[in-house]
Amino acid sequence: MSGPGADYRYCPRCAGELAPISQAEDGGDKVRLRCAACAWTHWNNPTPVLAAVIECADRGGKILLARNAAWKARMFALITGFMEAGETPEDGIRREIGEETGLEVDRLSLLGVWDFQRMNQVIIGYHAVARGEIRLSPELAEYKLFEPADVRCWPAGTGYALATYLRSRGVEPQFLELPARVQSDS
Ligand SMILES: [Zn+2]
Repeated sequence: MSGPGADYRYCPRCAGELAPISQAEDGGDKVRLRCAACAWTHWNNPTPVLAAVIECADRGGKILLARNAAWKARMFALITGFMEAGETPEDGIRREIGEETGLEVDRLSLLGVWDFQRMNQVIIGYHAVARGEIRLSPELAEYKLFEPADVRCWPAGTGYALATYLRSRGVEPQFLELPARVQSDS
């Protein structure tokens, strides 16, 4: 993963080469990747990512965590996905939960919003009460059901969402060290 903004070399509007160019903005002069030809600016704003702590209503209230097929380490995480154009955050997380686990959502509540600067994302975390048959998408290798007292939280975006949920169930969260390289979007 390279630094913020280092992943674009050409202007998406005119194909001119992007360069770090200083320009006056509301907050003062700011160097960003810009196009010298057409003045397009690569703002590099964080991408909204939806995340869900899934409480399985028909499995004794256990929490479903899943392992991404692309991960080398055997780690389990919240269900996450990018918010898409034309949907609300609530619609988006219902869609992601359906696509990735097959579960139907009874109700959703917002846990909070966290930055995840390593991936230039903003995590919008929900508690989802869900039920149904579990059918994982090919993106996910396996899932596990956990009692709230048995899970450990990563000290980053989705981990803070999980910690907030645990506190709501009267469990003081325990945090893990984040592995050096997590090959994931969240
Ligand atoms: Zn341009």
